[in-house]
This record gives sequence, C-alpha cells and structure tokens, in this order.
Amino acid sequence: MGEQIQYIRLVGNERRIGPTLASVSRTWQGKRECFMFISPHDDDAVIGAGIFMQLAMMESVPVHIVIITDGSQGYCSEQEKNSIGEIRRAETFECYQSLGVPRENIIWLGFPDCRLSLFCGRRPAKAGEPAAAGFTGLQNAITKTLRDIRPTQVFMPTSSDLHPDHKIVHQETLISLFHAAGAIWPELGKAIDKVPWVHEMGVYCDFPEPPKLRICATQQHLENKLRAIGKFKSQKQIDSLIEIVRKSGPQEYLRELQFKLYQPRKYHDMFEEKDEMPFGRWGTEFTG
Ligand SMILES: [Zn+2]
Repeated sequence: MGEQIQYIRLVGNERRIGPTLASVSRTWQGKRECFMFISPHDDDAVIGAGIFMQLAMMESVPVHIVIITDGSQGYCSEQEKNSIGEIRRAETFECYQSLGVPRENIIWLGFPDCRLSLFCGRRPAKAGEPAAAGFTGLQNAITKTLRDIRPTQVFMPTSSDLHPDHKIVHQETLISLFHAAGAIWPELGKAIDKVPWVHEMGVYCDFPEPPKLRICATQQHLENKLRAIGKFKSQKQIDSLIEIVRKSGPQEYLRELQFKLYQPRKYHDMFEEKDEMPFGRWGTEFTG
C-alpha cells in the first residue's frame, strides 16, 4: 500500500497481481466495458467504491451511478424534514461529479426512502409513484435501467448490510439482471446480450464471505474519496464515517457473486454406490 495502484485477485490457488483491473480479469471486454454502481441511498456507492470508480474512469471505463431511494427520510434536523430530498440530490451531484462522474451518468430512481418493501416486484403505477412504461416497482425500474445503460459489470452493497433498503435492493437487483437479459417486459427496452458480472461492495457490514479482489491506490485517491463523502453535509453522522474511511487507508475490496443455477448433474453421483462398497450397504444388511 502506498503510492501505486495495485489490484490483486485471488483465483483458486493463483494470486493475480496487476496495475489495472483489466490485467487481473479473465473476461475483460476492452472498450465494451461499462460499470453501473447501484446505490440504495445516495452515499453508499462512494463509501463502498469511491476509490475504485476513480480507477475505472482512469481505465476509460464509463461509470454510472444509480441511486434507488429519494433520500426523504435522511434528515438530521427538523428544519430539513421537508427539503432533505432536494438537499441530498444537490449534495449527490457534487459528490460524484467531484470524482469525475458526468452529471448525466448520475441517475435517480426516486423510490421512497425506508419504504422499499412496498415497492418489491412490479405492478401498474398509481399517480405519484415512480414509474416507467406505466409500471412501478424495483424490478421494473432496475430492469429498465439495466437495458438503458447496458453495463458489463454491476456493483452493489453486500446482502449482509443491516439496512432493509440494502437487503431489498440486493434481492431485487439479482432477479432484475435475469429479467434484463430475457425477453420479458419488452416495453422496457431491448434485452441485454448477457447477464453482467456482479460484485458486492463493502459499505456497513463485513462481506458474507471473504472478497477475492483487493484494490490498493494512492493517498490522493483516498483524499478524493474523503472529499467526495464530505459533500454530504446534511448528514451529521458523516464525520465519524469519514474517520473510519480515512483510517482504513487507500484500499477497497470487491466480492464477485457467482450464480449457482440448478444443475441436477451435480447431485447425481452422491446417490450412486461407491466403488469401495461393491455390494452396497443395504444389500449387505438384507442378505445378512
Ligand atoms: Zn444506504
């Protein structure tokens, strides 16, 4: 750790080291690479990957930030109770633009903060609800956003974070990745060619299983991240968070998610008789 950029990816017994993400990736798609960071609340993506997104842009990878909630419950003073959504929106643009993300790549889906449980799935939208193609719901919005942006890789907070908004976004994003790549809901756009790679970012709680990718960068990258987090001035608790991020140093971790789609073949052999027991256990018992 110090003054250079270093990626280390653990692949089986191998320890791949390189100065770029491309150099430690098996599936790098060159100019096609496009990253989408899913942020349940406006500040999650910068906390989890504020360094990594700077490095991605240095590798000429477009970065998109998709903020799920409207921030309306994040007020820390009575005066800001009704205006907090607007305040946080302005702070968010400042935060991510300070890291180099273009304004048009910062997208708000506008679901009500702390009420995401009411917006799981997809249903016809009522007046005033966040809607796309006449429907509301996280699966509707995330599927449409995936088809619009067409990312090769998606990043989101782990499923182990305690905040229910984080858990719900995790769950709804995973199924939306498959919706987006399928023929379902054609009014939401052309299906993406393949399901993007998915990584979890560490935000508030440890990863459910250890990550396999470590990113070390320079002190300057850390300073940029700290300055960007500091843009959320309305969030009074942010100072203690900045201290934690500062102490952790210029490093971040990402955990790749592997989908384990049902493969009956996998279970076949465990029901077969083993070679070392040619007559089988039951057969022995019955014949005495
Ligand atoms: Zn959050």
